[in-house]
Amino acid sequence: MRGSASKLHVVSLSGGKDSTATALMAIELHGREACRFVFADTGNEHEATYAYALDYLPQALDITVDVVKADFSEEFATKRANLARIAAGEPESAVYGKRKFMYAWTPEAAALALEWLVPTGNPFLDLCMLKGGFPSRKRQFCTQHLKRDPLTEYQLNLVEAGWLVESWQGVRADESEARRWLPAYEYLGAGMSVFRPILRWNVADVFAAHRAAGIQPNPLYTQGMSRVGCMPCINCGKAELSQIARRFPEHIERIAAWERLVSQVCRPLSPVSFFHKGTQGHSGQASTIAHVVQWSKTSRGGRQFSLLTDLDEPTACSSAYGLCE
Ligand code: SF4
Repeated sequence: MRGSASKLHVVSLSGGKDSTATALMAIELHGREACRFVFADTGNEHEATYAYALDYLPQALDITVDVVKADFSEEFATKRANLARIAAGEPESAVYGKRKFMYAWTPEAAALALEWLVPTGNPFLDLCMLKGGFPSRKRQFCTQHLKRDPLTEYQLNLVEAGWLVESWQGVRADESEARRWLPAYEYLGAGMSVFRPILRWNVADVFAAHRAAGIQPNPLYTQGMSRVGCMPCINCGKAELSQIARRFPEHIERIAAWERLVSQVCRPLSPVSFFHKGTQGHSGQASTIAHVVQWSKTSRGGRQFSLLTDLDEPTACSSAYGLCE
């Protein structure tokens, strides 16, 4: 139902400092009625982030936060049907054509994978089961499927309902080369535009905006995290991973369980890992999260355990749109 305003200012909240500052500015300039706040749940967030974005901010700012979550049930049905054909004896080439896969399916392996290939309702895990592995810096499909697509659909629904939609993105130019050249405003057409209100702000400005509004930042910033997003993010730096392992070992254990499940479903003979070999400075033979955590606790190129942690090591999430913080 269309309200009195013809334009809606849509803020994508991640639970991070930049999107919170962006929400504060949207409320200040346009008032709550002309704004919408939306959180894309990846299923790989820290509980403090859920509490912050979905409980603390709505209460402190007197706003409603809508939640969007990717759903892959249709893709699961297709993949299950394909594996069932291979399990029944059809050659892989008849099912998938001449596409080459790293892992060749035998009927036995396909039958086994079918037992495990069941949607869990966790978007991150389900996506990895479908893709046959975890995202990487080169194949960062998580941002697109878990954040960009559901958020775009949310905004298109508003346009279809008759609103003009201005998407407020909490990105800062000093975060990366890709963001440095982004314009502050873009008209996309079809009733949609993008506004980046804090593009020229620095980190101090962002925290100052929190203080001025009497809003606490996400508590994870005081617990060794330089960014708030997935726990952990595939682009997580060495020092941050070490902090996560020390403070939140249950999240490392969860990822280790995901590695086992995704391997079972996708490549029982060639297990997959959350961090890809050659990233995170890790060049060892095995790159399971347990191995990478061990590496994160070392210094001197991984040869010596570190007694000091460098909290300033940058992380490099390559989403130029600020979707991952
Ligand atoms: S925070 Fe990291 S792991 Fe999560 S969606 Fe963004 S890039 Fe992917």
